[in-house]
Amino acid sequence: MTLKKNIVAATMLAGSMTALSFLSAGTAQAQGALVMYCGVQEEWCRAMVGAFERDTGIKVSMTRKSSGEIFAQIKAEAANPRADIWWGGTGDPHMQAAEEGLTVEYKSPKMGELQDWAVRQWEQSKQRTVGIYSGALGFGYNTELAKANNVPELKCWADLLKPELKDEVQVADPNSSGTAYTLLASIVQIMGEDKGFEYLKALHKNVNQYTKSGAAPAKAVAQGETTAGITFMHDMVTMVVDKAPIKVVAPCEGTGYEIGSMSIIKGAKNLENARKFYDWALTAGAQKIGAEAKSYQVPSNKSTPIPPQAPKLTDIKLINFDFAKYGSSEERKRLLSKWDAEVKNLPK
Ligand code: PLP
Repeated sequence: MTLKKNIVAATMLAGSMTALSFLSAGTAQAQGALVMYCGVQEEWCRAMVGAFERDTGIKVSMTRKSSGEIFAQIKAEAANPRADIWWGGTGDPHMQAAEEGLTVEYKSPKMGELQDWAVRQWEQSKQRTVGIYSGALGFGYNTELAKANNVPELKCWADLLKPELKDEVQVADPNSSGTAYTLLASIVQIMGEDKGFEYLKALHKNVNQYTKSGAAPAKAVAQGETTAGITFMHDMVTMVVDKAPIKVVAPCEGTGYEIGSMSIIKGAKNLENARKFYDWALTAGAQKIGAEAKSYQVPSNKSTPIPPQAPKLTDIKLINFDFAKYGSSEERKRLLSKWDAEVKNLPK
């Protein structure tokens, strides 16, 4: 089944499902420790940690970082790994880590409950990473600022090159941010590599800042610090839910999407607890926590309701994103070096 069909099917199922708790709170007692690197928004990371600790009694030490930063840290610590589980963030560095032998195979008994796209991620990584959520890339703009500065309606990637947006577009740095790497890989797939890099160089003229974190531009748009920001659409929706004057755009040329992923780190000192977290994080109940923490991705467990606020992937022109290619060590390194050399430091 395609991603879109899966999502439709999951929506139909959503109403009839109830929350599942992996273990009842009554069984919670001191069960040791778990060290987690968390790649989503801080609020969601903290909510996951709290729920897991309550359910299992396992004490979690959590560090939140962006996707590319976690990859770099795990690689630097490979001889003496500090963390046990890497939960969240875009799939590309999880795929690269799998290929480089930084993470290990695991087959959870929960695999049968997952959407096809989540299982495919696991198969393509030789069982070393699994899909936990999905969401489309797009952009958002502050409608009040746009009106004040006579910026016309923005509908397409091409519109972000308009001279009215000089120094008014914010996006993250793809070296640290999985969101921004998804942009780089999507533009290359949509436009072809030569035209794609021409586009990114032209966009650079309008970029006021390459942030470390992928969701930071959504906050900046909400606060009126920049007119437009490129993020996952759900990160802009979080701001809209908090009443920011933002229009969320699914670009007319088509767009890429992510498969947010989870991996167990090779040499994990708390391997059993890492597996317990992995199984728990794939349950329908644990996957409801995202929406409760105002993160509106599409969950990978088929029984978890898709939050009504989540951008409807069926309405978005999604490209056939090649996760294996753009998550491969060689391609990811090559594209990031090329972006550093040709785009990042271009004079404006
Ligand atoms: N936070 C949320 C809500 C996300 O969906 C994602 C993508 O997986 C991230 C954070 C990743 O952030 P970054 O682009 O900083 O790596």
